[in-house]
Amino acid sequence: MAAQEIDALVVTHLPDVRWLCGFTGSNAALAVTGSRAVLFTDGRYTTQAREESRGARVTIAEKSALKECCALLGESVKRAWFDPQHTTVADLALMRSGVSAKKSRGFFVPLQKPLVSALRMVKDEAELALMREAAKLGCELFAAMLPRIEAGMTEVVLAAELEFEARKRGAEGMSFETIVASGARSALPHGRATRAKLPRKGFVTLDFGVILNGYCSDMTRTVHLGGASREERAAWDAVLEAQETAVSAVKPGATCGDVDKAARDVLEKAGLGKYFTHSTGHGVGLEIHEQPRVAAGQEMRLEAGMVLTIEPGVYLPGKFGIRIEDMVAVTETEHRILTPATKGWIEL
Ligand code: ZN
Ligand code: ZN
Repeated sequence: MAAQEIDALVVTHLPDVRWLCGFTGSNAALAVTGSRAVLFTDGRYTTQAREESRGARVTIAEKSALKECCALLGESVKRAWFDPQHTTVADLALMRSGVSAKKSRGFFVPLQKPLVSALRMVKDEAELALMREAAKLGCELFAAMLPRIEAGMTEVVLAAELEFEARKRGAEGMSFETIVASGARSALPHGRATRAKLPRKGFVTLDFGVILNGYCSDMTRTVHLGGASREERAAWDAVLEAQETAVSAVKPGATCGDVDKAARDVLEKAGLGKYFTHSTGHGVGLEIHEQPRVAAGQEMRLEAGMVLTIEPGVYLPGKFGIRIEDMVAVTETEHRILTPATKGWIEL
């Protein structure tokens, strides 16, 4: 904040609040100045807020946590910055109502660039340990599901079994809606599980993640039911090569664009470039999608402690789709794969 000449910050995005002071409740406004931090929440969280919060004084708001947070800042600083990515028009009106009419003009300033999410990109050792644990649970789930995948079962049943297994093994929830896309539906990059039956012959893409200790995991494997055609197998081989090539490109100093290009070049060469219709990956942490974006032209440089997904895929409309995804942590010298579940060809 000092480096960016920010006197005070209103933090309302819950993952940011959690990262800054540890509070995990669903209603929070954190006032941060150079000398102190005050967390505002409501009466439901009186006990929890005091137990969880570190480094912030807890105040239970009478009416609105956000309004009272801003009222406090209105009395103590000249201006307060907020994150425009996570502040609605209604929020801003409420924030202004907490500050005297005389002061409210120009009092709230939108951050020019993200502040807390930029800090959250680089994970410390304790966070990395939690992320390794979440990723490991994901891998164990994949191994547990493999013997249960069979032609005729519906995608939703497969998703439900995976999610039940996740909860039984301690997951707090899934980090996003489980993707099970089979047969021609595998060509939908974000094919949510439906009542469609897994085919006798064809791909099944499983993309899922758990939340464990607040941290998200994310991984994708694409397996094949029955014998694969030559075209299917060649495309799968190309996706795996693209994925492994991009993983190899992950190291401190490389740009996100370099990593994306590593995957894209392999698929271009295999004649599949036009079927790779999304970016190569994304940061992951307390949220399933965080900074940085691993996409074409992104100049952000990787740093030790960042955790990204590498997930190239190809989607041939009406035919089939394939995606393979790992979570990868950038280390001091290179990288470490957090999701070491088998990436070999699997035919069930
Ligand atoms: Zn995923
Ligand atoms: Zn992902």
